Amino acid sequence: MSENSMALMLKIGGSVLALTILVGFSGCQTLTNSTGFGDLYVVAHEDDDLLFMNPDIQRSITRGHRVKTVYLTAGDGCRSEQYWRAQREAGVRAAYAQMAGVEDRWVDVAVRPKEVRLLQRPQVSLVFFRLPSPAKEDGTSCPHGTTLEKLWTGSIVELSPLDDPRVNYTKHGLIDELTKVLRIFRPDRVNVLDGTGRNPVPCRPGNPAVCRVYYPATGRAYLSDHSDHYYSALFAREAHAAYQRPHQFQSYRGYNSALEPPNVSDSAFLEKERVFQTYAEHDDRIDDRPPFDDFYHLWLLRQYEAR
Ligand SMILES: [Zn+2]
Repeated sequence: MSENSMALMLKIGGSVLALTILVGFSGCQTLTNSTGFGDLYVVAHEDDDLLFMNPDIQRSITRGHRVKTVYLTAGDGCRSEQYWRAQREAGVRAAYAQMAGVEDRWVDVAVRPKEVRLLQRPQVSLVFFRLPSPAKEDGTSCPHGTTLEKLWTGSIVELSPLDDPRVNYTKHGLIDELTKVLRIFRPDRVNVLDGTGRNPVPCRPGNPAVCRVYYPATGRAYLSDHSDHYYSALFAREAHAAYQRPHQFQSYRGYNSALEPPNVSDSAFLEKERVFQTYAEHDDRIDDRPPFDDFYHLWLLRQYEAR
């Protein structure tokens, strides 16, 4: 395909349908099958994607999709900026560079929410809303006292990013801002954590952070899921509903995926584990080497769609 015909197509191609038909006739498949397909992932913390949405993200990148991952919180757990910026954000940057097979060098795209893209693979980008995350998974016991859950349920009216108290998101303001990210990125598939409130079966519907379940593989009881995972998914589902362009929608189970049998193939597991290790080497809460801890190991062996 000549550059001219591509330019003409892009000009006409305000509509994706028109673009697809033209590309189909030209026999150039890469634009629609790879380069053009957009996968948007929305998570709460810097590592949810690597634990609960991989190997899918790895596949999206390998296939040449446009990939954008949005982190709604800073994953601070009440710790300092040094932790969430130099450990968690740096960790996922390194992990995505590794998944893309390029240098860990990023270009700033936007300030609020913070957005960066890979220098050598610009179709891979990360967006950090940097909203506060609680010290404990059930959403309690954090001095700043503000969480996604409280914003969703109305017990607080506004939530500010950790690095800019002058910015205030209301519940609908945050949904609008997230919807804006979707409209600009134009994903063909929106991928979120588990907002169904239905997993696992023995828990009552709703916030899975109030439900403890017994995990036979670890011999202990633990939360069904993190409060931030569930509420990040509720915000993302609203943005998905407001985003009018035809697209697929997929949800992924969080902590309680560990109740299911392992389902990641051996080769995909090794790759997933290596990528997570790159992240873990940045994050001082996590052992630098596999198996990290019992739960991390169980999650790395699994990836489950939430139904
Ligand atoms: Zn998480």
